[in-house]
Amino acid sequence: MADEHASAAPLKLHHPSPLAAEVAFSPPSSSSLAPSSHTSLQHERTHAAAQRTEAEEDADELRSFRELALQRQRAMGGGSQSSSFEPFVGSRVGSPIPDKHGLGWPGKGTLDRLNATPEETAARQKKLSDAVKVLLECIGEDPERDGLLKTPERYAKALLWMTKGYEERLPDVIGNAIFAEDHEEMVIVRDIDIFSLCEHHMVPFSGKVSIGYIPNKFVLGLSKLARIAETFSRRLQVQERLTKQIATAIDEAIRPMGVAVVIEATHQCMTMRGVQKPGATTITSSMLGAFRRSDKTRAEFMALIRSSQR
Ligand SMILES: [Zn+2]
Repeated sequence: MADEHASAAPLKLHHPSPLAAEVAFSPPSSSSLAPSSHTSLQHERTHAAAQRTEAEEDADELRSFRELALQRQRAMGGGSQSSSFEPFVGSRVGSPIPDKHGLGWPGKGTLDRLNATPEETAARQKKLSDAVKVLLECIGEDPERDGLLKTPERYAKALLWMTKGYEERLPDVIGNAIFAEDHEEMVIVRDIDIFSLCEHHMVPFSGKVSIGYIPNKFVLGLSKLARIAETFSRRLQVQERLTKQIATAIDEAIRPMGVAVVIEATHQCMTMRGVQKPGATTITSSMLGAFRRSDKTRAEFMALIRSSQR
């Protein structure tokens, strides 16, 4: 996704401007905002570059982008502190989330599935049921025996439900639960249950995800962290990617100082088949911003998600 705006930026921005979306999608009138902020930042840099670390520059840019976003929010008549804010998810220039429709990382047929007419949805279920009948035959069963008669239909419905995350748009998931707030301490929601399907075996893996972030002017409704995790886990996944997608989506939505996501899960493709290592868990993590830069911040997060009741 090389776009000229991002590649022309003078340094790697951890957080491109929230206003960058305007540059791409609105008439030229508003596009003067972002470039001028880049120019002044560049100017400032040439004078003071020697004394400043990259981290400090990141933080400064974040601050000014936030300020602009907040001013704009107020100017648009949001008025009060608690007014909601349109999430930035997957809709702006330079976004690491590749989809404009807000579907995150959709599959090839996601849009067809999402936009299906009731007739098409019925046809999809029928096709899936027929395929399950074939599965039953292939394992040497009799799809016509009593106990299995309804299984293909049930399984088809269950599989569509277990992959319903493909049909969920992040802006809908997040809704208007983004709030302007001056809280700057770490926010953690830990031990959120997740259930997913490993894409290599289409067999479940399940476990717990802990999510932390350090707000930067915006906070996300707490239940939304779990909803974001749910959206991406109800798809075919590998645990590493799931971890990263959750972190990236939160980073995109509220541009915090940093995001940390840790998933500890048990894969049934490991525990009930072949290698058979019951109880073996896989731990993956994704650290962005301050959690990546600072050992201390990361250690604080890890200590908090492991404290008590563990
Ligand atoms: Zn697997």
